[in-house]
Amino acid sequence: MLYFVLITAGMILLLLGWCLSLYFRGNRRSKNPESKARTPVHACPVCSTRLDKKEKVYSVVFSEIGADKIVHLRGCQYCIEGEQTRKCPVCKRILGTEEFIAARMSEKSGRVHVHILGCSQCCRFFV
Ligand SMILES: [Zn+2]
Ligand SMILES: [Zn+2]
Repeated sequence: MLYFVLITAGMILLLLGWCLSLYFRGNRRSKNPESKARTPVHACPVCSTRLDKKEKVYSVVFSEIGADKIVHLRGCQYCIEGEQTRKCPVCKRILGTEEFIAARMSEKSGRVHVHILGCSQCCRFFV
């Protein structure tokens, strides 16, 4: 009788462990797409190369207009040092290596929004 109880208890524990492992595996699986969706897939605004989250778009915060910031985007490693064609996304003009584009950066409820304004030829925020 004692053996029977022990075996039943063992089986219940095994079943419980299996259920738990399934539960955690399921949980982990459901967490993955969410974290992927949160990772901003961004592209360089100057050459439209798709960038890894480790690869940065070089930018300089230029001035602040109220809560918004005006940033100068110089481009990524592929169009500053690389061979990619540098283009203004607004007027489609080909940019020189020293040129950059302006963008307005605002923060709303903890998320940063970047609105591309244009280059020195098409953007009025250029001095
Ligand atoms: Zn680029
Ligand atoms: Zn432009």
